[in-house]
Amino acid sequence: MAGGWAKDGAIQDQIDSTVNDAVALARSRMGDENNTKSLSECEECGDAIPLARQEAIQGVRLCISCQADDDKRTAKPAGFNRSGSKGSQMR
Ligand SMILES: [Zn+2]
Repeated sequence: MAGGWAKDGAIQDQIDSTVNDAVALARSRMGDENNTKSLSECEECGDAIPLARQEAIQGVRLCISCQADDDKRTAKPAGFNRSGSKGSQMR
């Protein structure tokens, strides 16, 4: 039975190459390097984007507050509904 685990190394290699492929694919989908360059000013409000944020997020286009607003708009409301119905059941 112990021999069955001999291929662990090979599986790990497969996982590593899959991750690398995914990263390469994500990068290629973002387009060329010019398109992944972070903006120094927010696309939405024109506020300066902190350099740390520009470096942390490749191709960042929004300042922190505009990004937060954007996240709220794109967030799925399903999670809120679930917790809301659970709360009403407990009452
Ligand atoms: Zn902004």
